[in-house]
Amino acid sequence: MHFLSIPTPVSAILETFQRHGFAAYLVGGCVRDGLLGKMPHDWDVCTAALPEQTLLLFPDAITTGLRHGTVTVRSGGISVEVTTFRSEGAYSDHRHPDSVWFVSDLTADLARRDFTVNAMALSASGVLQDPFGGRGDLSAGMLRAVGDPERRFQEDALRMLRAVRFSAQLGFRIEQETETAIRMCAPLTEALAAERVRDELEKTLLSTNPQLLGTMHGMGLLRQHISGAISVRWDALCAVPPERLQRWMALALLLAEAGDPLSLLASLRLDNKTAQACRDCVALRSIQPRTELTWKAAIARRGAAAAEAAAAVLSAVDGSADLGAVQQILQRGDCCSLRQLAVSGRDLQQLGFQGADVGRTLDALLHHVWRHPEDNDKATLIHLIDQGGVPDGGFLE
Ligand code: ATP
Ligand code: MG
Repeated sequence: MHFLSIPTPVSAILETFQRHGFAAYLVGGCVRDGLLGKMPHDWDVCTAALPEQTLLLFPDAITTGLRHGTVTVRSGGISVEVTTFRSEGAYSDHRHPDSVWFVSDLTADLARRDFTVNAMALSASGVLQDPFGGRGDLSAGMLRAVGDPERRFQEDALRMLRAVRFSAQLGFRIEQETETAIRMCAPLTEALAAERVRDELEKTLLSTNPQLLGTMHGMGLLRQHISGAISVRWDALCAVPPERLQRWMALALLLAEAGDPLSLLASLRLDNKTAQACRDCVALRSIQPRTELTWKAAIARRGAAAAEAAAAVLSAVDGSADLGAVQQILQRGDCCSLRQLAVSGRDLQQLGFQGADVGRTLDALLHHVWRHPEDNDKATLIHLIDQGGVPDGGFLE
């Protein structure tokens, strides 16, 4: 019986292989998610066909992963990664296999995969291939390495981060021997590329169990990125909506609160926009009391979306009432940024302002309308300028 409704374009790929005498199966995450009753977000196929044979059957396939036997077949609007059954040699750098070779046997292909729940394959007719007991582990809510966990983590240190990430996404426990091996092999994660670590950390952060970042840290998997013996309120992450910017800001706030210098923003090569928003959010926390002016300045500096996100995070993590205050400002449409100011640089030039005086006067006007939103119309502002002895900003309170 089928537990997974396979989209027609995907089963068409499996059937094409079979018609030509090649074994082919769905494999990995889509089988796992299907068994859990979830709709898979991507589809992976493994096959006995060699890459060049796959390309003969699907001439339009994209060949970006060809070196490792993977081609991408587009079918009915769905991209399917098709990988030839393969086995792997030693991993002398703890990151990549020194060599891969193609095999004709499905079990050998499943044996190279990381966890039992990710090492199952399903044929088009619905037959499950599960040589490592993945289905049992799935029912038990257990993540277990395929084969000897210590060897598997020595091969590829990323698997240790993946273990905690899947445990956070699926709500699974990590099996005892697998966990012991993670603690033992944790220092090997230092050899990993920052981007790969960041992606696993971010998936954990956005999961339903973001507090497991505490487990990741406690197991020593983040030692290059987060200070060692600090006490972080990891559970507070759960109070923040699973939205990317907000969760990163919350992580930064909680780490800063615990005394971490936030070197992870750079060491994980987080994009500049997110990293800056995190720093701004931490800086905002130390402004007390935070008034409407604080928030208008934040909106002017980073835009409404980032300021609203920071307010939401501060409200969730610190229990402050900032979110309502920011939403009121935005709903009223108060002028917060130069873009919203009723007078432009060009207007000032027409009034005879030149050079740096233009920017200085605009700033002074903006500060004024932050306090007096009702004055944000052109006539009133020009009148103020006439009266106020600008450019020294004399009309500012
Ligand atoms: P998701 O896509 O939901 O994050 P997934 O299980 O599909 O989960 P992918 O990274 O897309 O994960 O990998 C597809 C499959 O490839 C996995 O299910 C697993 O069988 C195998 N795999 C991926 N990365 C590794 C790895 N580092 N070591 C061993 N096997 C891996
Ligand atoms: Mg996947």
